[in-house]
Amino acid sequence: MAAKRKPKLAVWKFASCDGCQLSLLDLEDELLEVAGAVDIAYFLEASRATRKGPYDLSLVEGSVTTPHDAQRIRDVRRQSRYLVTIGACATSGGIQALRNFKDVKEFAARVYAHPEYIDTLATSTPIADHVKVDFELQGCPINKHQLLEVITAFLAGRRPGISSESVCMECKRAGNVCVLVAHGTPCLGPVTHAGCGALCPSYDRGCYGCYGPKETPNTSSMSGRLSRLGMASRDVQRVYRTFNTNAKAFRSESKRHGS
Ligand code: SF4
Ligand code: SF4
Repeated sequence: MAAKRKPKLAVWKFASCDGCQLSLLDLEDELLEVAGAVDIAYFLEASRATRKGPYDLSLVEGSVTTPHDAQRIRDVRRQSRYLVTIGACATSGGIQALRNFKDVKEFAARVYAHPEYIDTLATSTPIADHVKVDFELQGCPINKHQLLEVITAFLAGRRPGISSESVCMECKRAGNVCVLVAHGTPCLGPVTHAGCGALCPSYDRGCYGCYGPKETPNTSSMSGRLSRLGMASRDVQRVYRTFNTNAKAFRSESKRHGS
């Protein structure tokens, strides 16, 4: 009897820092089991050896910032049965989407001696703006255990069990004293997607939203609270303009506090 074919996994990089791909390598104990369950056919961060598609599952890190990226992601989609985006860059455009509020040509002129050689788009956009995406895993970087759940779920043919609740819910489960209520520390936990285990409030720091918006976040109420804590409108705008600046809820709320 022929051996059962292992599902083929591919990992792709677009505009990003590689941190989310490293989360896969950082699985340590579980990585050998993953490697036993899937055929890691394309993963340049880990191996120069690659095998051609089609692939059963593609994990895509990074945003689309060049005309070449826009073409390449369509090629990746064509070769992939399931396509999952991982991290803030791939799911919202990343911190590089700060360009979306400004003139990118002006940035290029200031940074490069010869900006005429730079071939870039005016915007940084998430993968889902370009092709169909089967699941988005948020975080900057993603949580490695959530990544394992996503891979396992797709291999088993089910939806990943990833909650879209807020960081506050994890904070409560961790038994933390609320830094916002008890200490008046600005904290974006109420509007931020869970996944980190309430890391920052566990160390008496406010959350700055690196996991991006939760499902249906009440950002206007959040901003009202930040204003009452004495934060200037310009600073309220800035708290939304970080790693997930182009995520719809954070982008529109930031625009309410300036251009
Ligand atoms: S510290 Fe922040 S994340 Fe934790 S409960 Fe308070 S507001 Fe929510
Ligand atoms: S900034 Fe917020 S979402 Fe990011 S690790 Fe800290 S608590 Fe978690």
